[in-house]
Amino acid sequence: MRTFKKIPALFKALFLAISPFLMVSLVSAKDYTEDRKTESKFAVEESKKTGTLSYTSFKVGGCTVRHGYEKADKETEKKVAAVKEAIKIANDAGFPIPDFDLITSAEAKVRCVAFLGDQDGRAKIMFFLGPKMFAVTPKSSVKGVADAVPPERKGVAVALHEFGHAFHEKLNPDKFWPQKDPKKKDTNPPVSAADVSMYALQSKLEFVAEVFAGVLMKQKYSDEVFNPYKDFGGPTSTEFNKLMKEQTLPKK
Ligand SMILES: [Zn+2]
Repeated sequence: MRTFKKIPALFKALFLAISPFLMVSLVSAKDYTEDRKTESKFAVEESKKTGTLSYTSFKVGGCTVRHGYEKADKETEKKVAAVKEAIKIANDAGFPIPDFDLITSAEAKVRCVAFLGDQDGRAKIMFFLGPKMFAVTPKSSVKGVADAVPPERKGVAVALHEFGHAFHEKLNPDKFWPQKDPKKKDTNPPVSAADVSMYALQSKLEFVAEVFAGVLMKQKYSDEVFNPYKDFGGPTSTEFNKLMKEQTLPKK
């Protein structure tokens, strides 16, 4: 009988012992599988705009890129060179780029955009680079960090912007996915976004990706930019924190 009496106490002790872990798993249990599946559907839609693709792959450091391209796209090599350089810059800054899919296209409707998920709802970068990658942005259009760097560096900045979204999602999914919800009202970036680019003024998500690309492209910002960047879950690393420190402008 004595042993039976001990059982509830044992359960209690066991529960108390594992409760901190239960709490942690409850807090981080948010599941973004469906959000990622939706992203993969967008990627399929974007794929429909390209011409016929041939496939190859290339490696940069530990990252293997599966690359779909059109044989007639004269900018394929330039795009690949820019993506390779961006992967190197990100890797060096403490953001190891995982294997991903790259689609380059000369078709006018294909955008420079990344979708973050595969059909099974796993994290996966589906990266599209259309003809606007190296084009000068028209005066009337919203300009980004990529338009502020020398034209030959634009492609690198475009790729870094997309990696910024990917690492935002990877490192702080709880601050990334809710911002994608169209019903969410608090998506406005801080007024200091105007110091980064016109594009950074679009939303918190674009603000984060623009600051990420800007810092890695050696742009300087004030703490009015860096503080909200950190608050919104902008990707950081030991190296990135060092860059932010070195590239901090004095207070206005
Ligand atoms: Zn973006």
